[in-house]
Amino acid sequence: MKFVMASGNLHKAEEIRATLPSDIELILQSELGVDSAEETGGTFVENALIKAKHAASVTGMPAIADDSGLCVEALDGAPGIFSARYAGTGVSDQDNVQKLLTSLEGEDHRDAFFYCVLVCLDHANDPTPLIAEARWPGTITRDQTGDGGFGYDPVFLPEGLSKTAAELSADEKNAVSHRGQALRLLSESLRERYSA
Ligand code: IMP
Repeated sequence: MKFVMASGNLHKAEEIRATLPSDIELILQSELGVDSAEETGGTFVENALIKAKHAASVTGMPAIADDSGLCVEALDGAPGIFSARYAGTGVSDQDNVQKLLTSLEGEDHRDAFFYCVLVCLDHANDPTPLIAEARWPGTITRDQTGDGGFGYDPVFLPEGLSKTAAELSADEKNAVSHRGQALRLLSESLRERYSA
């Protein structure tokens, strides 16, 4: 069964392809000439639904979309849905990490979690989206360690581990991360819904 993936991010699509049931075929919306939808929602799930609805409506295909980010308790959940553009639009991961460390200067309460939501719409007006969400708890370190992963990984110390997310292999990260957990949950729901 074919689904449009409401993302232009090849790396993410590969990760998602590798985890979903093998008879689910994902086609990137960028491969179909579909533009990115504007993320105007106030929550991760709203933004994921906006993206999936847009992709489903333009292509007429069932759609899968995700949204994710980092939520820091001492910052009332920021950077949250603005994680990719915390330090401004078009900035680098390093700029965002630097802004986070500056925002937390002198702060001892550094609990945080990564959050991921994945949604699947059977069609653009599907009133019963499949929704899978997961959190990955940890703390924000004071210094950056490791060169794997992306985004805030070098300053995220996962609960129960003694190395940052940037020091984990891709498989180690996928086994415990917000995205890995949410993908496994979505896979279950897809199997139930489509017998995939
Ligand atoms: P999006 O889901 O592609 O919109 O990504 C949101 C942003 O959240 C990314 O650009 C990263 O800054 C951050 N983020 C989401 N997941 C991770 C992760 O696994 N590691 C590090 N940063 C992440």
